Amino acid sequence: MDDCNLKELSLSAGMLDPAFNPSILNYRVTLGNDTVNLTVYPVTSDNHASYQIIGTGGSKTVGLQDGLNKIEIEVAAEDGTLKRYKIEATKLSANTPVLSGLKIAENLTLDPPFSISEYKYTCTAPLNMISVIVEPISPDHNMHVTVNGSEVGNQTYLNVGHTKAEVNVTSADGTNSQIYQIVISRVQFPWSISFSDLNDAQEYECPVSLKAYYRPVSIKGSDPKHIFSSSLIKFLTRKTKCNPFDDTPFDAQWCVPEYEVDKRMSAASVYCCFRYRGCTGTFELSELGKHALECPFKPPSELDSKDVTGTSWYQTEFGLTSKPRHQFRHTIELRNWEKNLRERASEGNVEKHCSNARNEIKNYKELVSKTGKFLPFYEEGKSPLDALHKAAVDYALAIKLKPKDPELHFHLGVVLEEHYYAAVIYGVVKKIEEQGAEKLSAAETSGRNDEIAVICRLHGFKAECTLQQQLKALDMEYHQLKEQGQAAKSDYVQSLYSWKAQQAGKDGKLKPVVSDEHKYIEWSLLKYLDALSLQPQSWKYNFHVGRLYLFQKKNNDALKHLQVALAQKPTEPSIRFYAGLLVLDQDDGLGPQTRYAIQYLQQGLEQLLTDLQTPSDNSANHELSFLRALDTFSLQNIQLIKGIYRLGTFLFNPPAGLPERTMSPEQVLHLCAN
Ligand SMILES: [Zn+2]
Repeated sequence: MDDCNLKELSLSAGMLDPAFNPSILNYRVTLGNDTVNLTVYPVTSDNHASYQIIGTGGSKTVGLQDGLNKIEIEVAAEDGTLKRYKIEATKLSANTPVLSGLKIAENLTLDPPFSISEYKYTCTAPLNMISVIVEPISPDHNMHVTVNGSEVGNQTYLNVGHTKAEVNVTSADGTNSQIYQIVISRVQFPWSISFSDLNDAQEYECPVSLKAYYRPVSIKGSDPKHIFSSSLIKFLTRKTKCNPFDDTPFDAQWCVPEYEVDKRMSAASVYCCFRYRGCTGTFELSELGKHALECPFKPPSELDSKDVTGTSWYQTEFGLTSKPRHQFRHTIELRNWEKNLRERASEGNVEKHCSNARNEIKNYKELVSKTGKFLPFYEEGKSPLDALHKAAVDYALAIKLKPKDPELHFHLGVVLEEHYYAAVIYGVVKKIEEQGAEKLSAAETSGRNDEIAVICRLHGFKAECTLQQQLKALDMEYHQLKEQGQAAKSDYVQSLYSWKAQQAGKDGKLKPVVSDEHKYIEWSLLKYLDALSLQPQSWKYNFHVGRLYLFQKKNNDALKHLQVALAQKPTEPSIRFYAGLLVLDQDDGLGPQTRYAIQYLQQGLEQLLTDLQTPSDNSANHELSFLRALDTFSLQNIQLIKGIYRLGTFLFNPPAGLPERTMSPEQVLHLCAN
């Protein structure tokens, strides 16, 4: 009755922008100078509705003038309700060179989205994409369009890093031209690159990362050219904006993309990244990403459980005839710190508490990612750590309601562990209630400063070091005393720290809190143990308990739990990696298990690199998987990076009898240099 929508709207020439949608009323279209008339084809969504093109006397065709033409389609529903769809049709003059569309046939997404007057775009291509076809759309048959100087429709070959594609459009009358530029970047190849010619290796090595260039750039005006990988040089100069080699300041356009260097490097010959597994092929670097996905020597996607079940430790611990030697004993109890977490009344609903907690965790993520790192000061109750604390409170309240649910204990552990990393990585300075700085006599002040100078010297700083260094020395001293159990002394050092830190804070109103984050690891471990005691065979809980024991260097306890986890899930590369790390540490590289340790570590690395090669769809992941305890197998994880480093340095001087197909130390350490 009252339906006055169109369900379709098409044109005899040009394309509607935005694309037609019944609820969008305003559109634009750009037409070439050769377009004389424009015919519109509306279809109403209700058969009984009618439409008219305003001012055409019943015709669907509109004569076009140069410049802007307004077309209005009025739809009348059966009951007389009216709606107007409007099109602004711009007919170009013969001397205007523009594109009306720009696409890449391989469906890469342009950034920003195409618009007629935007001339510079970027886009990202997968690492196995060797060429693309750039598809410019010109509004006028008389305009001439080329891509990188050749006819439209030709392949544009992609360098391994970045490639510039230039679309040149000449106006219909041939008097003017305009360039649209697209910079296409391929995803970085995660494996280390090994050139078959040593000269190439030297020529294309970034002086900062000591790895092959990725998207090389040079510093404008440098002679000879200083070339770097773009991400690294931007990182190194993020503060100073000076050439790191000769300290000359950069001007605004200091960074010049080196597409030609990238092109030459892409044509250089390299070995397959699976050479250590037996592949003898050499390829142009540009093709390596494609080959790596298809190489017959690439690591198997499914690991063999016999690597675990065939070992002597497995036979002894978990073989059919033997009973487990290690009995796991742990009793859940309500500890004071957890009681304190139940700081407010429960809402009586487990699901509600869990969804509150998830929201706080999302809030935490936003606070952290907004700045990239923590701001030094936050309003009371609004720091990322406050968000984590609130999440912990909600999980603690949920546990109170449902104490036998292991997942609730586990989630509280995950949040507490994140609290630790957040405090360590970002540094925590909390704003506290306003309070005046302590008033000290001159003698007291100089006495305290003398004590601080002594502590600075103890920790290798000069007596006249900066305020930041003084704080660092005090922090080190504090932790050292604490570890030695000297509570009174450590409290005194903390008071010195606070006093000194007040000089750093504004007006003495801001007081940094000496970090005491290690207790969060202990609490987190206790929660993983609580979860495990409710479900002792869970590989997941065993894995996390083992991982944190390893973190605390309690290797015997760690080994027990990682072995149980492996026995439950022998093909899981992340458990293998952590177990391998532990065994390598324990054996010191000489014991009978070293062979397995190396194998497990390498299998973990191979899995990690393969994942980087084929980025997965993140939407499938758990919404909280960015929390570090749930992201144990990524290059963001400190424990994992330490493991890679440990393996790499170990392989520089390996004992006899390494497994076949072991990576080179350079290949392993390559990952740490990212
Ligand atoms: Zn290969």
